[in-house]
Formats: sequence, structure tokens, C-alpha cells
Amino acid sequence: GKALVTGANGFLATWIIRKLLERGFSVRGTVRSESKIAPLKQVFADFGDKFEVVVVEDITKKGAFDEAVKGVDLIQHPASPVHMNAIEPDEQIVPAVNGTVGVLESALAYGTSVKRVVYTSSCGAVRGVETTTPRRYSEADWNEASVADVRARGRAAGQLSKYQASKVLAERAAWDFVEKHKGSIGWDLVACCPPWIFGPTLQPVKEPEQMNDSMRIWFQATIKGTDDSGIPQEKEFFTKFGMTWIDVRDAAEALIVAGEKEQAAGERIIISNGPWKGQDLLNAARKYYPQVPVGDETYHPATATHLTTFDTSKADRLLGVKYRTLEDSTRDIIEQFKGKG
Ligand code: NDP
Repeated sequence: GKALVTGANGFLATWIIRKLLERGFSVRGTVRSESKIAPLKQVFADFGDKFEVVVVEDITKKGAFDEAVKGVDLIQHPASPVHMNAIEPDEQIVPAVNGTVGVLESALAYGTSVKRVVYTSSCGAVRGVETTTPRRYSEADWNEASVADVRARGRAAGQLSKYQASKVLAERAAWDFVEKHKGSIGWDLVACCPPWIFGPTLQPVKEPEQMNDSMRIWFQATIKGTDDSGIPQEKEFFTKFGMTWIDVRDAAEALIVAGEKEQAAGERIIISNGPWKGQDLLNAARKYYPQVPVGDETYHPATATHLTTFDTSKADRLLGVKYRTLEDSTRDIIEQFKGKG
């Protein structure tokens, strides 16, 4: 088969592409500018002309994907702004929403061979503000809080709210599109929601700091033990700061299986490994890189309180992908970047 992967140069997208190519797919990736083509083609040089890259300069423009969807059976759509420095919420919301609806419109109009579209949503579209008591979330939950925050406060809304609102609104727009056009589309939609994504990268980056936001923060918190401005974190930080995570290779695998399995059709699926605290990252990293800060040695993973967990039974049932441990993932990241950070 042939697959389209949007934002092909991204952290997650490069792993999706590699796995699709290994499964025998031909892949067409989209990037935003000409200069990104050659370095990306280099990453997949072994696969020859099974991998092509096309430029879609502005994913918010009507018909942006009209050419790109032609002749593909599967669309994987991970392209979306992933950062915490938007001023206006629309800097993230517009590309997330219009980009997603745009892919679907093009698939409806020109994707005559498309059978499935897999959208990379986020656990941030599931859960908003962390509660003060532990809570387990499922696919039935939607992060209304971040959307409300952005609506009420505009540019004064929290950075995380702006990003998460973009993911809520984009996923919702995708489901609305499918509902509205259900009589005329020849494909179905799956939305997968990953939490923090960690792992080694295939991207042509020299330093971890050049990677996306989740890995930038991973390196800061784990290897350097500092905040954004380079100030060392307080000991307490490591036992408080945390969420849930998945290895980038496992997320890519889950997304691909979501594109294959009949029973995933029309489903929203949380793809999350397990919860972590900053101290878990430190403990795992110190085994492979002794320079990592000690953090809080009194910490015991077994007694840690995780305020956010996810019910992952749906992914187990529909996808059945086995996830790597935090230790394995950490080791692979450190192996890749040792001495380069
Ligand atoms: P990256 O930043 O590595 O990749 C994002 C991709 O989207 C890049 O190709 C980027 O292109 C493209 N992109 C960003 N903004 C725009 C825009 N305005 N117009 C067109 N393309 C754009 O992030 P990830 O690989 O981590 O993220 C992939 C997906 O996974 C996203 O949908 C994200 O929301 C989701 N996700 C990520 C998590 C994480 O922890 N990393 C957690 C949960 C979900 P360019 O390089 O040109 O900017």
C-alpha cells in the first residue's frame, strides 16, 4: 500500500515513516519547505524511491493536501504545532484545526483510494487541569478546561492551555467532519491520544535541545536538572513533576496498528504506557549516565502518588501493542546523545 504522512520531519512522524517503510509501504511525506527535503530523504536513503517528500507550504490553505492525498490508501496526520510559546491561541489552534480539516477535505475530494485516516491527537485532548486527588481518565473524557481557559482569557491563557485547546478543537473538528460527511466518505477515522512522548530520534538533529518540546524538557529535567532558564530544580520538583508517557517507537507502532485493524474504525484510543515522576526519569538515567542529578533519594516509586492515570484497556483490546519500559527507553536516548548534549 501507499501512505501519506504529514509533518514528515517531526519526532513522531519519522518513526511512523520508518515503520511503514519496514512493513513494505510506499510513503509520501509532507514538509513545509524545500530545504527540509534532502536531509529527510537522507534518513530513509536505504528505502530508495519507496519514500518521497512533497512540500505543503501552508497546511491551513484550502486544498493544501489535494495533490498529496492522491493514490494513497492510508493517511497518518501528526503535523501540528507542538510548543509552549504561542502568543495568540490561534497561532496553534488555526494550524491544528484547519490543517486537520484540510487533510480530511482533500481526502474526501481526491482521496479515492483512501481507506483510513489516523489522526494523532493527545492525552491533552482528554485531560486538562490536574486535579488535587488522583483521577483515572478514559476516552469518554474531553479536556473542556483548556478550551474554556483560552476562550475566557485569550492570549493571557496558560501556554499549556493554548496547546491543549488546539488538540481538543482539532480532534473534535475531525469527528464532526466525519459525522457530517458519513454518507459520502469511503474511509474511516481513528484518533489516537498519546501522553508525553520520549525516546531516541531519527531526525537529523545534533543536540537534544534541537528536538521537540517533550524531549527538550526531558533533557532539561533529566540530564541537566534545570528549568527553562537553566536554574537547577529544587529537590521537590522531581517528586512532584510528572505525567504519563510512551516511547516514541511504541507510539508510532500503535498508530500504525490503528491504521491496520478493522476494529479500530471510528475509535478514539488512548495510547499511554504508564505514569512517571521526574525522579523516575533521574533514576533510570543515572544508571547509564552518572552525571545526572541525584534529585530526592528518599523517593520510592511504589508509594508515589500519580494524580493522572489513564484507562488503557481500549488500546489493549483493539491494538494490543506491547510497550517498552522507561528504563529501556531512557537507555536508548542516552546512548544516542551521550556526549552531545
Ligand atoms: P514535532 O514538533 O517533532 O513535529 C511536529 C510536526 O508538525 C513537524 O513536522 C512540524 O513541521 C509540523 N508543524 C508544526 N507546526 C506546523 C504548522 N503551523 N503548519 C504545518 N506543519 C506544522 O512534534 P511531535 O512529533 O512530538 O508531535 C507529533 C504529533 O504528536 C502532534 O500532533 C502532537 O500534538 C502529538 N503529540 C505529541 C506529544 C509529545 O509529547 N511530543 C504528546 C502528545 C501528542 P516543522 O518542522 O516545519 O515545524
